[in-house]
Amino acid sequence: MSGAQTPAHLVPAQLVPEIYDRLLAHHGPQGWWPGDGPFETIAGAILTQNTAWTNVEKALANLRAAEAMSWPAIRALPEEQLALLVRPSGYFNAKARKLKAFAAFMAERGDVLAAGSGRPGGAPRGAPGSAKELRAELLGVHGIGPETADDIVLYAAGLPSFVIDSYTRRIVDRLGIAPDAHSYEAYQALFEDHLPADAPAYNEYHALLDAHAKSVCTKREPRCGACVLLDLCPTGAQRPPAQ
Ligand code: SF4
Repeated sequence: MSGAQTPAHLVPAQLVPEIYDRLLAHHGPQGWWPGDGPFETIAGAILTQNTAWTNVEKALANLRAAEAMSWPAIRALPEEQLALLVRPSGYFNAKARKLKAFAAFMAERGDVLAAGSGRPGGAPRGAPGSAKELRAELLGVHGIGPETADDIVLYAAGLPSFVIDSYTRRIVDRLGIAPDAHSYEAYQALFEDHLPADAPAYNEYHALLDAHAKSVCTKREPRCGACVLLDLCPTGAQRPPAQ
């Protein structure tokens, strides 16, 4: 912990682990895995693009009811039928196309994401040598962007790839440590350059940032007075004390 240090005395190499320590002490371990098993994790990562998880749950329930909770089943379904099943998640024609593309990828390269391999402590069966290698391969699949690729690498393959979402960006920006290049990869490097490459820790850190953004560093009217990062945060310092 940093004690009485102020942001002026801390560089990202100190801040990134410090933020983790404080959020963990405040919110406690999140123990968070999205979805139930590798299929649901990956399908969920695709379906959650531009929508809330509650809508994803409805789409997944439809897939479950249609006995289509596997990549071979997705592959066998006509695209129009699949689109109707995932309709609750929005952009359903585009998402059906993305699911079909990923099903084709799994038929060809399923060895890189062997079922059940992704939980912490379980070495990925047939996984490539590094998270970056797998990430690069996933980015070549239709509909898989950086955040979805990192969701898959981290949560389905259990390999260390830090996930950046809008909650993470909000906190980083308000703390005044946003990278000069506002690209996804630059935000990711801010964390990966200053943390050991450890998938369970990346998972925990991401979950803590999301919890903090939802409960304290909210989009409107952040509760800076209750924030454990207040003395590190130039945004919080500029807000009235009552906040
Ligand atoms: S002090 Fe306020 S703005 Fe800064 S991280 Fe905390 S809640 Fe967000």
